[in-house]
Amino acid sequence: MSKGITSRKEDYSQWYNELVSKADLAEHSAVRGCMVIKPYGYAIWEKMQAALDKKFKDTGHSNAYFPLFIPKSFFTKEASHVEGFAKECAVVTHYRLKDDGTGNIVVDEDAKLEEELIVRPTSETIIWNTYRGWIESYRDLPILVNQWANVVRWEMRTRLFLRTAEFLWQEGHTAHATAEEAIAETEQMLDVYADFAENWMAVPVVKGKKTETERFAGALDTYCIEALMQDGKALQAGTSHFLGQNFAKAFDVKFTSKEGKQEYVWATSWGVSTRLMGALIMAHSDDAGLVLPPKLAPIQVVIVPIYKTDEERAEIVELVDQVVAECKQKDITVKFDDRDSYRPGFKFAEWELKGVPLRITIGARDLKNGLVELARRDNQSKESVSKEGLSQRIEILLDEIQHAIYEKALKFRTDNITLVNSYDEFKEVLEGKGGFISAHWDGTAETEKRIKEETKATIRCIPLDNKLEEGQCILTGKPSTQRVLFARAY
Ligand code: AMP
Repeated sequence: MSKGITSRKEDYSQWYNELVSKADLAEHSAVRGCMVIKPYGYAIWEKMQAALDKKFKDTGHSNAYFPLFIPKSFFTKEASHVEGFAKECAVVTHYRLKDDGTGNIVVDEDAKLEEELIVRPTSETIIWNTYRGWIESYRDLPILVNQWANVVRWEMRTRLFLRTAEFLWQEGHTAHATAEEAIAETEQMLDVYADFAENWMAVPVVKGKKTETERFAGALDTYCIEALMQDGKALQAGTSHFLGQNFAKAFDVKFTSKEGKQEYVWATSWGVSTRLMGALIMAHSDDAGLVLPPKLAPIQVVIVPIYKTDEERAEIVELVDQVVAECKQKDITVKFDDRDSYRPGFKFAEWELKGVPLRITIGARDLKNGLVELARRDNQSKESVSKEGLSQRIEILLDEIQHAIYEKALKFRTDNITLVNSYDEFKEVLEGKGGFISAHWDGTAETEKRIKEETKATIRCIPLDNKLEEGQCILTGKPSTQRVLFARAY
């Protein structure tokens, strides 16, 4: 492990790349745009998965699994869906290789698939084709299914975690008897995502609706959570779509209603991906490395011993065993870093880089006085505490850290939402501090497009808690009834 990363001020993007690499989270693979998620990074993702999975199940959903491959004919059935994804599709055309006679391994042209297969970029089509066989009457509804999977979108400009060609995600796909029920589901899952972002990731998010331009291909409405990164750029952290009857119509999925009528089924889909890892890293970390909220940290507490003699070591180990056992009871993950091939200073830097929320240094000399040192990763503060009641103190501190990280991110977000009333002001803020800009917009796709072309800022969302307010569009001066949130985004 080499020390030191580029500071955020110097080069935010470089800082991010170095951090992801040096904290052992992920690396680029031999395949362009595809990443290797390393064990430490994957451990964080697993914690995210576990928390989300529990939330999905608590809201009545079950997991299932559908194929990686989607027949091209399925994929093309919903017109706007295929139009939206066509440019990013990986297509399987053959199923065999052969030796060409000269020792070269080539694609066997005799093994051409009758129908090409799309590597799923999202699974609405294969799932709705399946649901046709599952749904006959209103008694079969709702279907509340989630899938944990990998998907492929042939992205041209990729960034580790934030935008990769292959990514891991979950995709919920639900089927309902009424539009109202489907909309309620869409909103419920948005709330689940927002709750996860805020209470687990400690990242405050704005809940909103996307404009028509930014909507998911095939959706009637796309809801999203938008987060703000430390460089003032926004990140779309999760989406929940109300799909209306579009996929039911494309795949002929009808049900017999209570009144005995044949009706098309209503649909939703919702997803979050490994992009959340990027959000987590970018929202909290500092120039010394990762800062992880305790609830998602694979190692919540690290203990570093300082001793000279075997006798001193034995005394430390005795205390460590007790603390580890007590913490286990409280579901707190503790690592005792007793590697004798590294000096304490090296270990401090390594665990700091890896974002372990709390470090306990047990020095043989302090221990003689019954004291140990606790160091918080989030604000770098240290305290000397009695070894008695140590696990209680740890529990309290982890809770405090979780809240402190959220409050810090929330303050940053609050300080970085700027209200503007003119296009000049808009551009000035955008070039200056960045962040979310709350401004009036005339509601047209043309204006949205022009602003994007001229400033690279997009409408992140129309916040759900928006208050109606008379105003004039910052670009065209046309009347507007509410403000929307603009930002440059990842
Ligand atoms: P969508 O199906 O487009 O609504 O996306 C579902 C989720 O996947 C959203 O939370 C996106 O932020 C995320 N996502 C979309 N594209 C990528 C990508 N290339 N890499 C990582 N996450 C992505």
